[in-house]
Amino acid sequence: MILKKKYKSIDTLRLAFGASPVFMTLYAILSSAQSVVQTAVTAVVTANFVDTATFILNRTRPYKDIYLALALVLMISGVVNTTGAAAKLTASKVRVSLQRSLKPAIVKFFAAFQYKYIENEKSWELISRVSRDPVKAVMDGVDAFIQFAQIIISVASVFILIVSQVWWAALIILSFSIPMFWLSMRAGKKNYQAERDAEKYNRRTEYLEEVLTGRENVDERTLFGYNDVVNRVWQEQYDAGRKLQVKVTAKNFMISKGSSMLLALISLLVALTLIGPVVNHQMSAGMFMGIVSAVFGMIQKLGFQMSRSLENISRAGEYMKDLSEFVLLREAEGALTEPDAEPIQIDSLEFCNVRFCYPGGGEPILNGLSFRLEAGRHYAFVGKNGAGKTTITKLLSGLYTEYEGEILINGKELREYPVSAVKAMFSVVYQDFAKYYIEMKDNIAIGDIHAAGKEVEAAHQAGLDEVVNKLEKGINTPLGKILKGGQDISGGQWQRVAIARSLVSRAPVRILDEPTSALDPISESNLYRDFEKLMKGKTTIFVSHRLGSTKLADEILVIDGGKITERGTHEELMADKGRYADMFEAQKEWYS
Ligand code: ADP
Repeated sequence: MILKKKYKSIDTLRLAFGASPVFMTLYAILSSAQSVVQTAVTAVVTANFVDTATFILNRTRPYKDIYLALALVLMISGVVNTTGAAAKLTASKVRVSLQRSLKPAIVKFFAAFQYKYIENEKSWELISRVSRDPVKAVMDGVDAFIQFAQIIISVASVFILIVSQVWWAALIILSFSIPMFWLSMRAGKKNYQAERDAEKYNRRTEYLEEVLTGRENVDERTLFGYNDVVNRVWQEQYDAGRKLQVKVTAKNFMISKGSSMLLALISLLVALTLIGPVVNHQMSAGMFMGIVSAVFGMIQKLGFQMSRSLENISRAGEYMKDLSEFVLLREAEGALTEPDAEPIQIDSLEFCNVRFCYPGGGEPILNGLSFRLEAGRHYAFVGKNGAGKTTITKLLSGLYTEYEGEILINGKELREYPVSAVKAMFSVVYQDFAKYYIEMKDNIAIGDIHAAGKEVEAAHQAGLDEVVNKLEKGINTPLGKILKGGQDISGGQWQRVAIARSLVSRAPVRILDEPTSALDPISESNLYRDFEKLMKGKTTIFVSHRLGSTKLADEILVIDGGKITERGTHEELMADKGRYADMFEAQKEWYS
């Protein structure tokens, strides 16, 4: 559905047509028919009615003729309403089809992007702009084009009607209408620009409102009591936005009134131009009334609809520009492949002189990092915040592949393994692990898409028995408050769920990357101890800046300045009296 190409606003029509050719064609036909019927056909029927009435008054036609003329007027008004409603219905069918095809296509792109785009602020903004509501963005563009086409069709059909009556009057009307029309279009564009300026403020106040009233921040809001401060900032932003909005509204008012006056002038000039032919009997009085009333009616809407549809077309253009950039973001190779069902056996894992900078330059985070880990042992990576510990886990799990040096698994470079094999090698519990508001069982099962049926055992091993027993439907209870019957659990219990997720995984190497940082040092230390016991004989990597929890590891690697600076057991490192020993001494009181 979505190709790697440059998209323009007109492509909204192509996408909609691709999603539902039948309904899109119907939508276009019905909308066009509605425009013609609403203007030219109505004018002809009105002309017929007025002329028939005049003939009857002059007694040149029988009285009963008026019935047919009247019936035609009523019928046409019915047709306008029905075609309008039918067009709306087909538009909603197109929307549903887009929902089915476009949304999944965007999500698929999203899922395949290289990880660096997710972490980069600019590309992340682009991604969220594109994926927030693609169907609405495309459909707004489609509606705007259809509306624009309706305006053109209305104008053209009335114009053709005038040509069919008195061709030279049509030429005169054309000569003054075009420049005035152009002026009114320019006004519409200015209007749009002014609104965009005001929108910036709206976005900021919306965010602040979310901070002030949203569910997400409720704890911190109460704890930090920042309501007054944020309220003040909100007030300032709101005032600034409001002032701008008032200016915009005033400007809009002037512009729209100015353009309406121009358009009203067009109606007046049309009437003046046509009065001559009526007097000279080149056009019937009925036709004059029909055309003038069609022009008046059309022009009333024209000023408003024209600028609205142009505004929306240009907005759709902005979205399509974003979409063109979005589709060009590079995909990670094999991003959508599932992990292998049978992970390979890992005997050794080695970093050889690895250097790594995050995309966008800056200082190298890892700077000649080398170490070798053996299977079946427990390792702890320690170092201060920002030392690069998480970066190591990101490289290991294949999220970034643009490093210098080598990462060897069983002696073979990591980048040479198929992506599906790399995905099956490591199970990582991240610091900001996800909380899924689904059943606890499914929350755990996510840890290994190939391993069903191990959830109860994993929950037990992760120390969740007590929680499970308290939950209304045991392990089948939805967590969080989103699903019906959902129950919230504590932060520490969520952490255990995340660990249970890692336990069901058959990955040969398990990494715990400070998922316990929200716990106090002693609880963290206890949790690590439990995990240690569970993982006996398996390869594990603990990452922490708190040393009390990692001292049980078989070996501790201290990271500083992008390199390993010390390595050994807790006792060895303490005896060395190096940086590790200093850090441990400094943190000792946390555990007493
Ligand atoms: P640790 O896990 O040891 O606390 P990290 O590996 O998370 O440290 O981060 C190491 C350094 O890399 C930090 O200085 C951090 O600011 C930087 N960093 C982390 N992620 C990114 C990113 N996506 N882009 C740029 N710099 C990053």
